[in-house]
Amino acid sequence: MSRLLIIEDEESIAELEKDYLELSGFDVEIENNGQSGLDRALAEDFDLYILDLMLPEVDGFEICRRIRKERNTPVLMVSAKKDDIDKIRGLGLGADDYITKPFSPSELVARVKAHLARYERLIGSSASQNEMVEIRGLKIDKTARRVYINGTEKQFTTKEFDLLAFLAQHPNHVFSKEELFKKIWDMESVGDIATVTVHIKKIREKIEFNTAKPQYIETIWGVGYRFKV
Ligand code: CA
Repeated sequence: MSRLLIIEDEESIAELEKDYLELSGFDVEIENNGQSGLDRALAEDFDLYILDLMLPEVDGFEICRRIRKERNTPVLMVSAKKDDIDKIRGLGLGADDYITKPFSPSELVARVKAHLARYERLIGSSASQNEMVEIRGLKIDKTARRVYINGTEKQFTTKEFDLLAFLAQHPNHVFSKEELFKKIWDMESVGDIATVTVHIKKIREKIEFNTAKPQYIETIWGVGYRFKV
């Protein structure tokens, strides 16, 4: 199911949009404030953003610009004034479409569907090639070398990523620290197996809700580690 985020400070409009979009089978979230909307837009995964122009704290121009810096997700901008739409176009913020209020709900739904379909076609071929590992809230995109925990991206160093990806690809297999060190660091590296311990600790700090009770990487005392599924 496609997940949409509406950033709109007029709650009645946001609710109306949400109702119609949900009837069309979309999963819809609402933020009524520019700052909270921006934070959420970048913290979670959405398939499309519906963005009002005039918003408290951070306006739609800025939100659109910030989304575009990081993502190619379709952005549909909404404004009460025709003039604003022209301004948005002129600024070249990278919004995919513009709608002037008032608009009919069916028009909104039609445009949302069209943009999702276009975007899915666009990313379809490359997305299907991305090698992903997904376990509970953890998502590892091996192709893009990115890690998400409950939809939020976490920054990993090269070796942290290699180690996590290696363990996740061999679920339930217990590896000794020596094996992991040899596998991930190879022979070229200076260091020792304590490096593995340090990296496991750092990975856990990023992916575990409670590092004292790890749900992903389990310590097998006296042996090493295994990735739990
Ligand atoms: Ca507004």
